Amino acid sequence: MLGSTGSIGLATLRVMDRQHGRFHVVALTAKCSREVLEAQGKKTGAKYLGLVDVRPGDSWIDVNGACNRRGGSACLVEAATHPDVDIVVNAVVGAAGLQATLAALEAGKRVALANKEALVMAGPLVLAAALGGGEVVPIDSEHSAVLQCISGRAPTEVSRIILTASGGPFRDWSSERIAEASVSDALKHPTWKMGPKITVDSATLANKALEVIEAHYLFGLGYDAIDVVVHPQSIVHAFTEFVDGSILAQVSQPSMELPIFYALTHPQRLGDSGVERFDPVGVGPLTFEPVRKVDFPTFGLGVQAGRAGETAPTAFNAANEIAVQAFLSERIPFGRIPAVIDYVLQRYRGERASDVDSVLAVDRWARETAEVACC
Ligand code: MG
Repeated sequence: MLGSTGSIGLATLRVMDRQHGRFHVVALTAKCSREVLEAQGKKTGAKYLGLVDVRPGDSWIDVNGACNRRGGSACLVEAATHPDVDIVVNAVVGAAGLQATLAALEAGKRVALANKEALVMAGPLVLAAALGGGEVVPIDSEHSAVLQCISGRAPTEVSRIILTASGGPFRDWSSERIAEASVSDALKHPTWKMGPKITVDSATLANKALEVIEAHYLFGLGYDAIDVVVHPQSIVHAFTEFVDGSILAQVSQPSMELPIFYALTHPQRLGDSGVERFDPVGVGPLTFEPVRKVDFPTFGLGVQAGRAGETAPTAFNAANEIAVQAFLSERIPFGRIPAVIDYVLQRYRGERASDVDSVLAVDRWARETAEVACC
């Protein structure tokens, strides 16, 4: 199985034998981690490697070699639509993964989606692209948990879902201390090991707002039917409530191995996923707390953008990406991240998500506006 995408943004697979979980890696792409890409290419036998950040004439590109190497941002769509590919694992960070997702769905592929931003910034377009035979299967652990709970059930039987949030590193900090948090404070996630952007998103709870919007599109639920609860142990990934009041929860150690594997094998369950055996006694007490919405205002801003619909989540996502970059490069303090997002949303004009160009125009506008707010 594909254990972890590491620095690989997009991996495409051919299903050799779904019943026994045998997949062959066809193509791999990365933004700039060329050593990782080359090593993974050798290990998996991928016949296509794409590197987004290359200069024209870069000696790395060798289209006549044993392995087809491509440079530039077009490699993402090329890898995602490769004719030998059945499943596209999209773990590109941020808005850059959108076009590969749309192209793969239009080509009838399964997209195992870790790039939640694609769904957040262009949910209506992603759903429309999937109508032609493609399908989106979430890799995000909370959404994988919901999918596992509702698999085989009619959508009308589901009344509510509750996504869990670890609460991030500032769960029990005062709001004054949170406002002054350093980059290294924000990068100390208590339970999950992830890249810097999503780790900061976990610290602001922007990640959970993005996940609420992601759940809205994936499961066709209204925002009143999606709740969030803080669960510091990250053992219960989501609860699903059915119309008769019964609740199912998906429980496993905080590791991405199972969600990635399930995204490949869904709706089947196969052995040898490599996950650690669950020990209910050893895991200790499981606790749940409400989200501190006043102290983590980014969460509320994101959900509000989700409720506004159309391109409002696009504006939220873009503003958040710029604010997080500005924080990581120490241009703004942690406490300014929600202020930057609010500045952008206050000026947002409510454009419709009619096509990719309209979504990308809002994305660009929100980035430029957020940059102004970071100065
Ligand atoms: Mg998640």
